[in-house]
Formats: sequence, C-alpha cells, structure tokens
Amino acid sequence: MQYKKVTHVLFDLDGLLIDSEKLYTEAFETVCAKYGKTFTWEIKSTLLGFQGYECADKIIETLNLPLTRDEFMDECQKVYEKIFVNVQLMPGAQKLVDHLHSKGVPIALATSSSENSIEMKMQNHKSFLKHFHHLTMGSSDPEVTKGKPDPIIFLVCASRFPDKPKPENCLVFEDAVNGVKAACAANMQVVAVPDPRIDKEQLRNATLVLNSLEEFKPELFGLPSYD
Ligand SMILES: [Mg+2]
Repeated sequence: MQYKKVTHVLFDLDGLLIDSEKLYTEAFETVCAKYGKTFTWEIKSTLLGFQGYECADKIIETLNLPLTRDEFMDECQKVYEKIFVNVQLMPGAQKLVDHLHSKGVPIALATSSSENSIEMKMQNHKSFLKHFHHLTMGSSDPEVTKGKPDPIIFLVCASRFPDKPKPENCLVFEDAVNGVKAACAANMQVVAVPDPRIDKEQLRNATLVLNSLEEFKPELFGLPSYD
C-alpha cells in the first residue's frame, strides 16, 4: 500500500477547516491600505502557518509600516472582530469531521492560533469544535514553544490523546507549506489541501495533495470509509 495505516487525525484550522485565510488577507489589506501600502499575495504566501506576532513582524518589515508589532496587531484585531463572525467552513470539512467522529476515530486540532482567536473565529461553529478530542492552540499554549514549520505543535497535540499515539500513526491535514514541513518533521503523514495559488513544488514532501477535503478517501489510510 502506498500509504501507511493511521489511527489518529490532526487538523490545522485556518484555510483548511475554515475559510479564514481570505479574511486575514482582507484585514491585512485594510490596515496596510490605511498607510498607503499594498498587501500582496507574494507577502501573504510567506505568512501561511506562522503565528500572529510572526506575521505582524514580517508585514511591518516587508512594507516598512510605521507601526509597532502591538499597534499593527491591535488595528488588525478591530477588523477581525467585524469580519470573523461570518467565517465559513471549507467544503467537505463538516462531512469529514462528522464522519471520523461518528466512527470513533480520535481527532484533534493543531492550530497556530491563540485561544482568544479561536473563540472569535469559531463563535458560530461551537458544535463543530465539540467533535475534537482536544484543541492545541499554539499561540497561547506554553508547551508549543515554536511556530510551524517546527514540528512541536503536532508532537504536543499527539501526546495529549490518552493513548499517546506514535507520530507514524497520526495523519495531519494542512493547507500551508510550513504546516506540511512541520508535519513531515514530526514524522507524520500529511494530506495537503493548499490554496490553488501555492506552488505545488513546495508541497513535494506531502503524502498526498488534494484540491478539496471533499476528495479525501479515508480508507487509503486505513480509516473507516464513508458509508
Ligand atoms: Mg492553515
């Protein structure tokens, strides 16, 4: 078999389960435009998978914005609070998460976001989050000492299942290049569902690359198939 059997599944959140990356882009564009700067896809593509303060630093430096990290993040926060109420699940996310949960496959969230950010983004998706055994939220978790592409978030996340699965028994779902690198560094198989603008060459280490979660076939990794 091309793929190894897994027992546990770890999910990234932004851009993978929820369509939030375009909202982050909208917020960054809004704040940068206030200072006469243009936030482009070229900049955006370097930010995927990083923690909030790392993104702020990169944007400020790249565009030479006259703001401190905290000032930039505060301005973005004001925009987020307006637009994140309406964040949608990505196609296939509900079906896959419901399916794995109903079949008793242990699933968890491994996101670089903070607890406050999750609270804001998932305010209308609380029942969806209840399907996850636990949520590992990198930006507010003292054990997650580095952002992706460091593997620590996935290793910490896996260690919090009661039966502590080995990395090779975990499957990761990611949309970002840095997330794929982090999963590979953790010695986990990884299904990439990237933004179509991402250069596929950067995802060459992914176990499988899909256009949508809707295309995923759980049985390829020894998980229960859809009925
Ligand atoms: Mg992501």
